[in-house]
Amino acid sequence: MAMTEGLTSSASGSVSLKPCISCHQQKALSEFYPHPHTSDGTINICKECHKALVFHRAREDHLSAQPPGLDRLRRQGRGARGPQAG
Ligand SMILES: [Zn+2]
Repeated sequence: MAMTEGLTSSASGSVSLKPCISCHQQKALSEFYPHPHTSDGTINICKECHKALVFHRAREDHLSAQPPGLDRLRRQGRGARGPQAG
């Protein structure tokens, strides 16, 4: 006897779809990351859009971050005076 579990999906339907608030496409719940605080247990933005968002954020963070050592150089230099305005 062979152990056959319902792996093959031949029947159409019976898949709960959900619209993504970013790309407005109806996608299966498996296309959304799980979130315990939402009513249906998944976030409202699909994985693809979420990835794009995270990617952009990371880039911005990287750009805004200053290279280490810059503050040190300033301190080492003539630092007898306070911050000069102008
Ligand atoms: Zn999306």
